[in-house]
Amino acid sequence: MSRAVLILFGPPGSGKGTQGRLVGARLGVPHISTGEMLRERVRTNSAVAGVAAIMQSGSLVSDELVNRLVAERLEEPDARPGFILDGYPRTLEQGRYLLNWLKQRNAGELVIHLRVDYNVLIARLTKRRECPRCGSVYHLNDRPPRAAGVCDLDGTALIARADDTEPVIRERLAVYERQTLPLIEFFRAEGRRVCEVEAGESPEQVADAISRLVRVPASEAGRNG
Ligand code: AMP
Repeated sequence: MSRAVLILFGPPGSGKGTQGRLVGARLGVPHISTGEMLRERVRTNSAVAGVAAIMQSGSLVSDELVNRLVAERLEEPDARPGFILDGYPRTLEQGRYLLNWLKQRNAGELVIHLRVDYNVLIARLTKRRECPRCGSVYHLNDRPPRAAGVCDLDGTALIARADDTEPVIRERLAVYERQTLPLIEFFRAEGRRVCEVEAGESPEQVADAISRLVRVPASEAGRNG
């Protein structure tokens, strides 16, 4: 493919952000997370209070807003050689918008479906902590910071995301099942290549599995696969 376009697909907690950063660095393409873009907007623009409330409830913000943010981001020069999408598309409407965008630019894409056991997702999300300054992600059991409660890189106090509380996590998982998972069938119906990756392993092992898929031409990996 001329551009390396990867769509990281999977429920909250499946490791899309971690893989986006790892694989993005390996491929030399930007990791584009709509969740991060929206959180950044909420931090810097008080006019989007409605968006913050939607995010804290675990629902999805409007397709119109997200499609516009993504379209603007994809026109930036660093996305020309390719990009990794994390958390987008999340609805059929967004899926149609993205495939149309790619078609107009003659670009192919690879969908990576990260699969993780439901209980592992809950454990990962309730114990996730983030650095609000540099975005580093920790896990209280599996990847704790060296000094309790502060970021290894810049010493900032770690926080739990506002939507990483158990009731909101359950809502986000329900929204995923209802609104996002049907995209897998949509991609397949559109003849796109969907690769299943078991994502319960260590981040490096999962990144190796994804990197192997990126190198295999679609004809060998099998479409719809
Ligand atoms: P994430 O960081 O991907 O877990 O996203 C956090 C929250 O941002 C989600 O629960 C949604 O409220 C919102 N969000 C992120 N990406 C999208 C999207 N593609 N469409 C709609 N809402 C989104």
